[in-house]
Amino acid sequence: MQTILRNGKIYTSNPLQPWAEAIAFEGDHITFIGADADAPASGIIYDLQGKMVIPGIIDSHIHPGMVSQSSWHIKLPWTENVDELLDFVRTYAEEHPREEAPFLYFEYYPTSMFGTQGPTKELLDTACSDRPCYCQDFGEHLHWMNTKMLELMEVTRDTPDPIPGLEVFVRDKEGNPTGWCKELAWRHFQDKMYEKIGWEPPQRLTSKLMEGFFCFLSEHGITAIADGLVEGEDQLAAMKELDQSGKMNVYYDGIVRFYSVKDLPEKITELRRYAEKYSGKHMKFNTMKLFLDGTNESGNSASLEPFQNDPDGMNCGEIKMETQELTECFLICNQEKLDVHIHMVGDRAFRTGCDAVEAAQKEVAERGDAWVCQPIFAHCELVAPEDMHRPAELGITVNWSCHWSGGYFGDVAKEFFGFDKWAGMYQFNPMIEAGALVTFSSDVVTFYELHRADPFFSMQVAHTRVDPEVPLDPQKYPGSVRPPVSAKLSRETLLTGYTRNGAKQMRMESKLGTLEKGKIANLNIISEDFFQVPSDQISQIKLDTVIFDGKVVAGILE
Ligand SMILES: [Zn+2]
Repeated sequence: MQTILRNGKIYTSNPLQPWAEAIAFEGDHITFIGADADAPASGIIYDLQGKMVIPGIIDSHIHPGMVSQSSWHIKLPWTENVDELLDFVRTYAEEHPREEAPFLYFEYYPTSMFGTQGPTKELLDTACSDRPCYCQDFGEHLHWMNTKMLELMEVTRDTPDPIPGLEVFVRDKEGNPTGWCKELAWRHFQDKMYEKIGWEPPQRLTSKLMEGFFCFLSEHGITAIADGLVEGEDQLAAMKELDQSGKMNVYYDGIVRFYSVKDLPEKITELRRYAEKYSGKHMKFNTMKLFLDGTNESGNSASLEPFQNDPDGMNCGEIKMETQELTECFLICNQEKLDVHIHMVGDRAFRTGCDAVEAAQKEVAERGDAWVCQPIFAHCELVAPEDMHRPAELGITVNWSCHWSGGYFGDVAKEFFGFDKWAGMYQFNPMIEAGALVTFSSDVVTFYELHRADPFFSMQVAHTRVDPEVPLDPQKYPGSVRPPVSAKLSRETLLTGYTRNGAKQMRMESKLGTLEKGKIANLNIISEDFFQVPSDQISQIKLDTVIFDGKVVAGILE
């Protein structure tokens, strides 16, 4: 029996037929899309009464594992006042004795709160010294810990940095760790600490721990996701369980992380094993993930020019791989028919990425082979104007996390780049105008920020360049609008990136991304007209009904 929705404003995301009045589906797929007059007459018919329908949303870079793992973290009050922050930690530690909470993990303190030398362990000791205590910065790349924690991890002046220049413990003149570290340096030593305190965070992901995440997706109209990176096999096992019990209502693209050309083959083997064991109607695996640099807020992104706050005028940040090694990685992945998803934020990282794609494509052409690898460049926060045309030319998919478009990371990066360069960040219109495929995502990594994965919230921030939650200082930036105004993304660009383009990135465009006959019936019915609501109210759009595989998974159909 067909379900027929009539009298609607249906936005299909299909450029050949952008609008329709009626849609019908049977089982999991669409059987009709078009005018009311042509719609099938027999079936269960619903009158949409002029409501809008859009395709299911695709979040093409989100972290199901990390979000689910973070449910035990403690939320800090949002403040730049150190005393207020330390008072909160102190009170929390008093109210939750060591026996009850052997390790205190707080998030977040504002990244801009401390200077480039960061806060010290002694300062954190004043709030909590009887057990390991840790504070995570807002950007998730800077980590503050107390003396006890360093002791238990056995990190001393003699401990080498895990990855010199990138994953480092900040040190005093004598080489002693100050209590601040960059990237995940501390994670290499965490097991020693857990062993000594006889406690471990709930690291094994279970279906119970993950259920809330997938429930959130369904409630917000998200019907497909690409994973920022698979955390481990327990995550996939938990998801398979949820999928089988009908509690994971998304199409899923699993991405496996590698670190260098050396470990790439073994990581590909891991991906193949996941694919064999967990692939199915909703789950697939064909992308490798690489982190090419750090972040623009912590001074370890790869920059074309030296950071302007570097006293020696030499520091251009860090890059994980130079062009030649990255080219080899692309060649291997192309051979294996795999896509490559790369974290990159600095303009030098972007250029290195483009150069490597170009070199790899040239070599493949010279060998007479076919280029089948899709390079996906995630973040691309700083791109030199002369490189803007390259994603279109090289067939690089660019992924942007829309809710960062306003003040989420403040103006901290300005310290490193100066105003002019900072004010040129987060620009995607020039790439789109040149013909690049741009996809959108939330890249949320904890429960703390999960609400920002609401696609309508994200779209509002990208459309206005104003973050309603964390606005830029209106004294410095009129209306809290992040410059440049020309970087605002249009509503059509946003919906296209969140639907049709996302499906292409996931290589599921034959099934998902547009409302077309034969495709999967993933769609959202919304109460307002997305194209008409005032721009500062896009985030208020409510979903009436979310349909996944032709079944209502959130809201009601009436
Ligand atoms: Zn990510």
